Amino acid sequence: MKTAEIRRRFLDFFTSRGHHEVPSSPLIYNDPTLLFVNAGMVPFKPYFTGAEPNPWSRATSVQKCIRTGDIEEVGKTTRHGTFFQMNGNFSFGDYFKDGAIRYAWELLTKPQEAGGLGFDPATIWVSVLKGDDETRGLWRAIAGLPDEHIQDRGLKDNYWSMGVPGPGGPTSEIFIDRGPEYGPDGGPEVDEDRFLEIWNLVFMQEELSAVRAKDDFDVLRPLPRKNIDTGMGIERVALLLQGVDNFYEIDEVYPVLDRAAELAGKRYGANHDDDVRLRVVADHVRSGLMLISDGVTPGNEARGYVLRRLLRRVVRSMRLLGVNGPTFGELFPISRDAMKGSYPELETDWQRISEVAYGEEEAFGRTLTSGTQIFDQAVTDARKSQQTSLSGERAFQLHDTYGFPIDLTLEMAGEQGLNVDEAGFRRLMDEQRQRAKADAKAKKGDAQAVQAYAQLRDRGETPFTGFRTLAGESAVR
Ligand code: ATP
Ligand code: MG
Ligand code: MG
Ligand code: MG
Repeated sequence: MKTAEIRRRFLDFFTSRGHHEVPSSPLIYNDPTLLFVNAGMVPFKPYFTGAEPNPWSRATSVQKCIRTGDIEEVGKTTRHGTFFQMNGNFSFGDYFKDGAIRYAWELLTKPQEAGGLGFDPATIWVSVLKGDDETRGLWRAIAGLPDEHIQDRGLKDNYWSMGVPGPGGPTSEIFIDRGPEYGPDGGPEVDEDRFLEIWNLVFMQEELSAVRAKDDFDVLRPLPRKNIDTGMGIERVALLLQGVDNFYEIDEVYPVLDRAAELAGKRYGANHDDDVRLRVVADHVRSGLMLISDGVTPGNEARGYVLRRLLRRVVRSMRLLGVNGPTFGELFPISRDAMKGSYPELETDWQRISEVAYGEEEAFGRTLTSGTQIFDQAVTDARKSQQTSLSGERAFQLHDTYGFPIDLTLEMAGEQGLNVDEAGFRRLMDEQRQRAKADAKAKKGDAQAVQAYAQLRDRGETPFTGFRTLAGESAVR
């Protein structure tokens, strides 16, 4: 089943059960606590907190998400992308635990011929918060799940909250057993690759007054209206229904991997390190594409930095795969074509998107070779003097002159078994920022002087003696 079809079935299932279909918000959302939208519930926050009246009591969406925290997992686990799409169904004071579990079970187990996803009930496992006997009882009653398929977890894994004052509540996660060839028996607690998490149900039931840690918080009072927030990763469902091994092999991601392998003359599956690089390329190209499409441009701060890091990681991964020339012109159109069914703006806005992507590749391509030489020399020097760490100055030079994001330097050093003096690097970065600020102030001063002069001149008033006076002053000093 194609990823776009899974998305469609999810939305159809919930709209035909009274949910209002809400389009995905852009990846950049007006929320100061977030760099990017990282879950389907983000645009609905004001309805959950009661800050704004909810226009519908039930909603459903497929939200574009970016999780930069998962970047190190990409290519190494079977299930993490930096960009992914989260299906969700939401209830604002309408149905609660019973309804959420009923809907999830029905959609998952309904045969595909009847519009469902067709999972074998015997492969379904769930987790519940230890002590949440109500939820355990519902899974037993509604789904007929045997007790060993319902695992207890602690607050760290199965309690959700979003900052205080704000709502919180227990969660229940749904996993699919992929079979013994993927790992040991014993449920998700034992192996999260074999037991793949596909869906998280959040039962918002109380208001928190303080959160000190994930498992240490104060409950103020029960919520007057209980809410449901769920999130299902469509790529994870796709990998299961497409019978492929992992996230990077589904219809929306694999074509880029395949082309990258072809460009590099590599056979996917032949070498572990190369495979990881190919998956990184496929994932990051798609994330870069979606970020640019939503208006992010590469830069050295915040959102722009995330995009830059992703794109430069693609360039470096392709080099490590043996391809030194530009590749974005090959890879990006393939990713566009794999995604445009769900996101037609990728095609209509292609001119701009491709210019941003190709421009960044070119900029990095100009300095990568020389930067890599500097890096290699620094490694040799460090080894010679038996140091275990690269200096902050080197990291700064690589950043400043060669455009190496610090994370790239850290990653490259890590591959050589070395640390980096990150504190030293940050200090130099700060100093540079201060200098830039002072410069900007001085420039502003200059600009004001020039403007004042222009005004006087236009009015034909006092003759301007500024330069003479200034020159005279500096000569005295
Ligand atoms: P995991 O434990 O696998 O990292 P999670 O518990 O962090 O997942 P949730 O925050 O519960 O994930 O998000 C809801 C759903 O979104 C998950 O059940 C999963 O299907 C999907 N999901 C989460 N993170 C990713 C990711 N990086 N790539 C793809 N899908 C994801
Ligand atoms: Mg996670
Ligand atoms: Mg999880
Ligand atoms: Mg989860």
